Amino acid sequence: MKSGKTSATIILILIVSLSVSCGGDGASVQPYSETRFALGTTCSITVYRKKDMKHLGEAFEAVNRVENLMSVNLEDSEISGLNNAAGKGRVELSGETFSLLEKSKAFAAVSGGAFDPTVGPLVSLWNIGNEGARVSGRREILDALTLVDYRRLELFPDTSTAALPLEGMKVDLGAIAKGYAADAAVKVLRDAGVPYGIVNFGGNVYALGERYGEGPWRIGIQDPEDERGNYVGIVKIEDQAVVTSGKYERFFVEDGVRYHHILSTLDGKPVDNGIASVTVVDRDSARADAFSTLLFVLGLEEGMRLAAETPYLRAVFIMEDKSVYTSMDPGTWFSINDDRYTLKGEER
Ligand code: ADP
Ligand code: MG
Repeated sequence: MKSGKTSATIILILIVSLSVSCGGDGASVQPYSETRFALGTTCSITVYRKKDMKHLGEAFEAVNRVENLMSVNLEDSEISGLNNAAGKGRVELSGETFSLLEKSKAFAAVSGGAFDPTVGPLVSLWNIGNEGARVSGRREILDALTLVDYRRLELFPDTSTAALPLEGMKVDLGAIAKGYAADAAVKVLRDAGVPYGIVNFGGNVYALGERYGEGPWRIGIQDPEDERGNYVGIVKIEDQAVVTSGKYERFFVEDGVRYHHILSTLDGKPVDNGIASVTVVDRDSARADAFSTLLFVLGLEEGMRLAAETPYLRAVFIMEDKSVYTSMDPGTWFSINDDRYTLKGEER
């Protein structure tokens, strides 16, 4: 659950008006949207042909399936089953959950553990976004950190089983599950022949196909410091995910200090490295979700290096000092439209 101060949508979708004139033929395009609360956030799916509306429900069923398998907030999810068996033995998992754990472990390895699916004990300790969140003490942070290590998550592909060897270890897929759910919803729409649409799960956006079949969608990147709905820049994409991890998404304030929900696996505290948000564009939304968190934790220098050498994704780093960096020449895919922010490119 998000705290009262936070809201679900970090990315503004530039659906400029309800009825958009489409091309030269004068036909108008009407959005058909459905919004539900799932995965701890507001999830909306929009299609633009009336006949596609009947697939919205099926797409949300896929979201529910993913949530029921992977949420740590549901006592009978597969991930909770795995966590409850920590220190006890192996648990059998569905192919879907198993495969997302495998991917998570791979992303952890790529980032040297900056992204870590076994971050659960730290997430529970800080409890950010929930009632009773408070600043954790040094001792309890160190204790939680001893239980965070993706290398100890045991995965057995032959039997589709997994195990956490130490009692108290806990998998948390909060940094990847929303993105995965967006992929699952998009798959349903695609398989049903829906040509274009927008899936927005609390800042995990998937822009399916082309914008009403005519060229790129324009997705705004939320200004980390401003009112919801104000954006720093615009990403132009077709058939891709745009996922943002930001400091502003879930947090609490104590003694004037803001504590947010992306945690360093090195010191066990909210990451404080000058980054305000990281946005990732990728065809695979689960990967974009994982990388948005991962690059945030790695920091600007290391994150930019990794993003630049990862061919399938593009990243936008928005810093607290209002400088903006892109991992690839912004060319035509990214532009800033708030002059308080400066695109830094010369150094690259
Ligand atoms: P959001 O949930 O706001 O979209 P993220 O995708 O960045 O943001 O995911 C943040 C969530 O990921 C946290 O709420 C927590 O559950 C989990 N998490 C926090 N730190 C890490 C980390 N270092 N590695 C993996 N997961 C993390
Ligand atoms: Mg993420």
